[in-house]
Amino acid sequence: MEFSQGLISAAYIVAALLFIFSLSGLSKQETAETGNWYGISGMAVALIATIADPRVDNVLVIFIAMSVGAFIGLHLAKKVEMTQMPELVAILHSFVGLAAVLVGYNSYFEMDHSLAYNLTDTQQMATNIHLVEVFLGVFIGAVTFTGSIVAFAKLRGVISSSALMLPHRHKLNLIAGIVTLVLLISFVQSDGAINPLYMMTFIALVFGWHLVASIGGADMPVVVSMLNSYSGWAAAAAGFMLNNDLLIVTGALVGSSGAILSYIMCKAMNRSFISVIAGGFGTDVVIDNDTDYGDHIEINAEAVADMLCGAKSVIITPGYGMAVAQAQYPVYEMTQALKAKGIDVRFAIHPVAGRLPGHMNVLLAEAKVPYDIVFSMDEINDDFPTTDVVLVIGANDTVNPAAAEDPTSPIAGMPVLEVWNAKQVIVFKRSMSTGYAGVQNPLFFKENTQMLFGDAKDSVSEILKCI
Ligand code: NDP
Repeated sequence: MEFSQGLISAAYIVAALLFIFSLSGLSKQETAETGNWYGISGMAVALIATIADPRVDNVLVIFIAMSVGAFIGLHLAKKVEMTQMPELVAILHSFVGLAAVLVGYNSYFEMDHSLAYNLTDTQQMATNIHLVEVFLGVFIGAVTFTGSIVAFAKLRGVISSSALMLPHRHKLNLIAGIVTLVLLISFVQSDGAINPLYMMTFIALVFGWHLVASIGGADMPVVVSMLNSYSGWAAAAAGFMLNNDLLIVTGALVGSSGAILSYIMCKAMNRSFISVIAGGFGTDVVIDNDTDYGDHIEINAEAVADMLCGAKSVIITPGYGMAVAQAQYPVYEMTQALKAKGIDVRFAIHPVAGRLPGHMNVLLAEAKVPYDIVFSMDEINDDFPTTDVVLVIGANDTVNPAAAEDPTSPIAGMPVLEVWNAKQVIVFKRSMSTGYAGVQNPLFFKENTQMLFGDAKDSVSEILKCI
């Protein structure tokens, strides 16, 4: 089956519209599933139109590649835990980056370089534009490729999540930027000599690695969404090189939505957007975990159950540990049991709780927690002083008072859930170890805080039995 170019363009417009509906649907929990279906339909239309393009002469190769990809994708999707999603997303971004590099080189080698000396002005202009497309496409792709691999390794815990502090790191980034610009000029002026392209690729690979390696700890969520944005721009650049309008539109949608998400997350964490995308510029802090905060107080499940039964208002602040323990189901059962006793129970969600944007909302939705008792940090932060008991279930960095009280802390300035203002705070975790950012949490040593040690699911189930 072959389509005419007109029909293919029409199919691409339909696919692009479906992708826009998909993004709009995915922006709200209630419409997320419909949004997903729009996305799947858009991708199906795009694939059929691409395969049916008369310029595609080897459909078999495409089918083989798609089958292998679909097999790996299905296998991974079935196996991956929700807590591993960010690392999966990071490695997928690296593939987009690598694809852009390969498309760039392919596009470069396909150009007829022998004609370089006999071009009219218009042809020269078109060639220059194409060379710039190739150069930028390879650059963005290479930065995304190594940057995403480092992000994957940090999120998986293969390498330390703290920021790499090379001496003169900002100057090194600046030099890399300037040399790349010089290489671009030389690449275009030489009508596409290969050496500047090779040199730039090497610099971009090192630059991408360094950019992400020098951002650490609690700033990692922004890195993931930033790489998401880069992968979109890499895809758009590939679209320019391949003359594929749909790839340009889709890449631009991913690129701009990723940039908007990064901006929103930076605002939520009180970080400078420019500072984060420039490789942690201005964040030269050193982690000091030697401060003595005194002793912590322990509590058992039975005492927590008694405390909860005597409370009028309870706020639950979940974090990454709830996801690891898969404690959302007993947490919701406990919520229902407390509500049946007339106790007001609400959830407070920090924008970067867990390991991916919206992680806690997804877990709570999975356990069928009604949306009207789930509040964002801004909506609920002022209510802690009038709350009897706060249950901090597997959260750490997102409830760390050092962010508000210690200007030397690596998470200083990041807005946090001010749980310590409540009358009683119970922290559910397995040990006194730090959270993702690697900084000690003075909350655990406050007079109104008690620690309930153990796996969050077991602890909540035990409390539920006592209630
Ligand atoms: P943290 O990662 O700061 O802390 C999680 C806590 O959960 C740990 O202290 C751990 O303590 C505890 N825990 C782990 N497993 C269990 C278990 N089975 N039962 C009970 N407790 C457990 O969590 P937060 O959600 O507060 O903060 C998220 C952090 O991740 C932030 O620093 C954020 O910047 C970062 N991040 C967020 C991303 C996002 O998009 N949301 C992406 C990448 C990073 P212990 O080991 O003692 O049990």
